[in-house]
Amino acid sequence: MKTGQSHLFIPGPTNIPDRVRRAMNVPMEDMRAPDFGELTKPLFEGLKRVFQMTSGRVFMFPGSGTGAWESAITNTLNAGDKVLMSRFGQFSHLWVDMAQRLGLDVQCIDVEWGKGVPVVEYAKILDADKSHSIRAVFITQNETATGVTSDVAGVRAALDATGHPALLFVDGVSSIASIDFRFEEWGVDLAVAGSQKGFMLPAGLSMLGVSEKALDASRTARMPRCYFSFDDMLKLNDDGYFPYTPPTQLFHGLREALALIEEEGLQNIFARHNRLAEGVRRGILAWDGCSLCAHSPQWYSDTVSAIVVPENIDAREVIRSGYERHRTSFGSGLSKVMGKVFRIGHLGDLNEVMCLTALASAEMALRDAGAKVEFGSGVAAAQDWYSSSQSVEISVAAE
Ligand SMILES: *Cc1c(COP(=O)(O)O)cnc(C)c1O
Repeated sequence: MKTGQSHLFIPGPTNIPDRVRRAMNVPMEDMRAPDFGELTKPLFEGLKRVFQMTSGRVFMFPGSGTGAWESAITNTLNAGDKVLMSRFGQFSHLWVDMAQRLGLDVQCIDVEWGKGVPVVEYAKILDADKSHSIRAVFITQNETATGVTSDVAGVRAALDATGHPALLFVDGVSSIASIDFRFEEWGVDLAVAGSQKGFMLPAGLSMLGVSEKALDASRTARMPRCYFSFDDMLKLNDDGYFPYTPPTQLFHGLREALALIEEEGLQNIFARHNRLAEGVRRGILAWDGCSLCAHSPQWYSDTVSAIVVPENIDAREVIRSGYERHRTSFGSGLSKVMGKVFRIGHLGDLNEVMCLTALASAEMALRDAGAKVEFGSGVAAAQDWYSSSQSVEISVAAE
């Protein structure tokens, strides 16, 4: 069927609100004009509020989230530096891979996919590192491949308990602006985000929150960096300019997205994601033979659910049928879980009925792929939840 809308339920790029899309439809402009800073300077301030930080800096590099990963590492560390990381899904895996390729000495803890950052093990390793040879600790706050959220505050507490001075790196690409992330309170030093997930924009802007401590580290770190240099940005950003051509359309979109975020209020956004996600999870768990990749509620992600299909079913068929017959895009199973998992992204510009649509479409796609899912079972479970739970909105002024 070619009529009507198609449905995007991948965990990024996410649906772009009409207001944001219209805001980007502007003529090209002069990025060296005397008043260009009027557009860009408030964006840095707005991003700081979303990251929940008051000191330090936010950088915006043309690029995707991966660019901000690279920027965070190359600006603050040296080749051969020892870093502590963990791997439990495709995104945490790729960050480890990048760190190794950039010459870091990575101590990587492999964790079963479906669980997240091993806070207790981190704490033990940090405690044993009396000489403070570990320069940085890395966390993927939300592992998008498995739908697993980890405890950033717990890792901060482990660092504090041992008085360990390592820098704290957080990948927040699929969490920041959707689920609670507190740069300052959690003592994060480098926080990575991207435009195409919680920020409801096209891909193309990588954002990076940087603490004063990380800025200090960048002044002495010697890893080569050029395009992603903090220094080059610092020289121009205060006046609202960039060392190379910035994506001005995306800035217009970001201005509108930040306005939407502030109108709804961060706490309301987090609560909405939690409530919508809970409905999707109840739907998934009502399907016969299906389960969540996340092992237990402690790990559940409010931005993406990874669904393990019944043994005899190929999840790729679910995704193919979703796309071809029902015009619905689901996220695929990446790497180790290919064929076993498909994903429903539930972040960004989203409401209850959209989530019900995703579940209804998935039920049909699962049946097409041979699963014995009872039609309406997941949809009904989600409907029950949405109609019985209240969406409570606090007034933004009271935040
Ligand atoms: C999407 C994603 C990335 C990679 O971002 P790109 O924008 O594709 O470079 C990194 N980490 C996480 C957790 C992600 O979800």
